[in-house]
Amino acid sequence: MEGFDIRTLAMTNLILGALLSIGSVVFAKVHSSFRGFYQLGVGYFLFAFGYILFAARQHINDFLSIVIANILIASAFTIVIIGILNFLNYSKRKFIKVSSFFLVIIAILFIYFTYVESNVNARIIIISSFISGQAFFATYKTYYHKNSVIRVFIQLLASSCFFCALAFLCRIVMTLNSVPLGNFMDAGYIDAISIIALQIFVVSTCLLLSWSASQQLAQKLKVQATIDSLTNLYNRRAFEEFAEKEVNRAEREHTYISVILMDIDLFKKVNDTHGHQIGDKVLQEFSVRLKESLRQYDILARYGGEEFMLLLPDTNVDTALTIAEKLRVTICQPVFCMENSLQLEVSASFGVASTCGGTIDWNALVAEADCALYQAKDNGRNQVHGL
Ligand code: GH3
Ligand code: MG
Ligand code: MG
Repeated sequence: MEGFDIRTLAMTNLILGALLSIGSVVFAKVHSSFRGFYQLGVGYFLFAFGYILFAARQHINDFLSIVIANILIASAFTIVIIGILNFLNYSKRKFIKVSSFFLVIIAILFIYFTYVESNVNARIIIISSFISGQAFFATYKTYYHKNSVIRVFIQLLASSCFFCALAFLCRIVMTLNSVPLGNFMDAGYIDAISIIALQIFVVSTCLLLSWSASQQLAQKLKVQATIDSLTNLYNRRAFEEFAEKEVNRAEREHTYISVILMDIDLFKKVNDTHGHQIGDKVLQEFSVRLKESLRQYDILARYGGEEFMLLLPDTNVDTALTIAEKLRVTICQPVFCMENSLQLEVSASFGVASTCGGTIDWNALVAEADCALYQAKDNGRNQVHGL
């Protein structure tokens, strides 16, 4: 056949399979928290091994180069899909059961169509049906996977699986309508295209799952850098970034912004009396109560140990004082219910500061809120103070 040479394509599959197998196993070792890469490594290895036997057809017997080679390639395909399912946290038990059953059937049919009634077309149809069916299944599973962080990569993976499924489906249809082949190495364009589809499948699964993993790592780092792990609120660093944007916006649009600095009253006593674990639970419950009372655009952060800061865009001092008072009541009532029916009366003091149009000095605003908070503490705690 002109253009594509099946043996050359088989050789490239071999090289690709071997390289990607090593890459996937190394990745699995380095990033052990990601599932599925070992299976990819094993799948690619079997894929390469299958193509060694396949490419060596002139030098080895039919059992190795036809029956075993095809079973290895079919198994490799199955194992790569198991890797994908594993990576995407799907259950794979049923898939393994059904695939194993079909692999046994394929082995029997391949022996039959090699030794009892030699028929290249029948063998092509059998292996293509298996791969096409599995690729359609992988398309379905990847297409409907719900993970917004890696969505783009997984959709690309779905496309690659779909292309593979279609290529093998076309191969079945064309083989059904073609004259019987004497030798697979004389196969036509569609056979070459299906081998290329396999190459695309192998390369894309490896690349796209690695990219997905790195995207997830980047997302994890971003969360760790911006979210306080105890309370799930923004940390101070993230808050300062939001604040800078809001200050710029308020200056541009000539609107007010207000901040409320909160500090839990006599929190040290909670720790000293009930222990740090209860102290942590109080901080969590405190955060939940605040979060539930927020408006859509308010930005809440854990500013320090038991200090919290709330930024209220487009809010003047009167509204900010009202909001602070509402939060104060939310914290006081009802009492905090801890484990072992321990009930704690928790309160906090609130310092409010607001801009009054014009240029905004953020540091001065925070210092004012701090000063107001100090006044609230000084006046007896559990109260709101504004400057
Ligand atoms: P005041 O009403 O004047 O604010 O008194 P206070 O006891 O709340 O203030 P102080 O600054 O003396 O104590 C704050 C305590 O908060 C001390 C520290 O151990 C505790 N704390 C800070 N971060 C955490 C945390 O993450 N978990 C727990 N359990 N305690 C924390
Ligand atoms: Mg404090
Ligand atoms: Mg305190």
